[in-house]
Amino acid sequence: MSDLILKNCRKQSLIGGQWVNAYSGETIDVEDPASEEIIAAIPRCGADEVDAAVRAARLAFESASWSRMRPIDRGRLLESIARKIEDHADELALLESIDTGKAVAFAKMLDIPSTVEVFRYMSGWCSKMHGETLPVSFDGREYHAYTRRDPVGVVGAITPWNYPLALGAWKIASALAAGCTVVLKPAELTSLSSLRLAELCLEAGLPEGVLNVVTGYGHEVGKALALHNDVNKVTFTGSTAVGKQIAEYSLGNMKRVTLELGGKSPSIVFDDADLERVGPGAALAIFFNSGQICFAASRLLVQEKVYDQVVEAVAAAAQTFKLGNGRDADTMLGPLVSRKQQERVLDYCASGVAQGAELVTGGKRHGDKGYFVEPTVFANTNPSMKIVQEEIFGPVVSIMPFKEMDDALKLANDSIYGLAANVWTRDINKAHKMAARLEAGSVWINCHGIIDAAAPFGGFKQSGWGREVSAEGLYAYTETKTVCALLD
Ligand code: NAD
Repeated sequence: MSDLILKNCRKQSLIGGQWVNAYSGETIDVEDPASEEIIAAIPRCGADEVDAAVRAARLAFESASWSRMRPIDRGRLLESIARKIEDHADELALLESIDTGKAVAFAKMLDIPSTVEVFRYMSGWCSKMHGETLPVSFDGREYHAYTRRDPVGVVGAITPWNYPLALGAWKIASALAAGCTVVLKPAELTSLSSLRLAELCLEAGLPEGVLNVVTGYGHEVGKALALHNDVNKVTFTGSTAVGKQIAEYSLGNMKRVTLELGGKSPSIVFDDADLERVGPGAALAIFFNSGQICFAASRLLVQEKVYDQVVEAVAAAAQTFKLGNGRDADTMLGPLVSRKQQERVLDYCASGVAQGAELVTGGKRHGDKGYFVEPTVFANTNPSMKIVQEEIFGPVVSIMPFKEMDDALKLANDSIYGLAANVWTRDINKAHKMAARLEAGSVWINCHGIIDAAAPFGGFKQSGWGREVSAEGLYAYTETKTVCALLD
């Protein structure tokens, strides 16, 4: 089944409705991170292909079939895309698993439904975006003043490798709902599901050129897209280091910029929490998807009285996860996406030990094939350690004790990042006081990672600029225009 899906899936870029190879003919190998085998190749495009895709997107943006499409028809089209994805859920989940290494069961449970839901959610907005009438006073004459929400134009979208389909869908569905056109650059490690998504969009009736996908490296395709003077907005999900470069590239023509970047999110456990739920809850909050989640709760702050108990529970939970090939039915955690990522995570584990953290479990490669790393728990860590300050993007948690609420807040906010946080307590007053003072774009209480198309998502501090999904995310693809008419 996976061989057939892999054989049949598109391995060309999509520009103006045409499937194309890189103009140079060059390709990038695609590796299965579980077996380390080369399983496909995608075009290594460059600035010329980006230029062609931006021209196609501009043409589509200005064409009547897209710009003057009735809002209700645009909504119907997005709903058709949602249904197409739903109809191909098994295939897409398998493709996502092959490319990223993640467990196919979780891709089916999370990645595909959230991809479907964001198209469905945004389909409703197409016919509900509106401006306002404005009660202008000005010089006392009579005016009719109002705002319009115009689409921002051509959008360059750049995505990472951890949730290629779902994070691409956040950008595509929002941009299309607003009436924009898109040039997508998926991560070079995981482009296959984005190409299949684009194919399904065409099958659902999306006009040619409205969605283009250009595959290739970040420093080639991504950079050319962010620099391009005919791109009106760039929306980027990835590391903070690259996000800062994107912001600089965008300055030339003052592109609108949305950045979803890194994180070092805290889980905060008070001694009145339901500890039966905290053990598995805090473990899943860091180890799910092998820790390759921007909002992974990689710092665990535990009130002193229950510290030992929680360390033990999280370590015990870490040891129960079954690591393996994402296509095996009982696999819970797949490999990391690449050798580079595996080496990076193991280097962080070594630095934790060198800086005096207590290695409770894990810290090693798992098996001798594939880019697996054992779920790793460090106890007795402190904010001076690299493993506490830097984003590891792997299955490694650093645990620290705290005394009172203020100490927890100080530790939690002691980070350049501010993407998310969770709080475990039975005291609802304490929970909401913490939520108010945590410097994080999302705060989850007695749960973690509740990501929904209706809930704005994004970061404080160096975790990014702006919000995605929800009405706020949608409006980020629009320009507000004020219109004022003198009534004689
Ligand atoms: P990355 O920054 O290396 O790459 C992300 C994308 O940017 C890829 O498509 C890559 O090819 C491209 N890119 C790389 N260099 C570029 C350049 N110079 N110009 C333009 N594009 C360039 O990130 P990654 O390793 O793919 O993903 C991991 C990072 O993504 C982590 O830091 C993680 O926290 C972050 N992330 C954030 C969110 C969020 O919503 N905040 C979600 C997922 C991942």
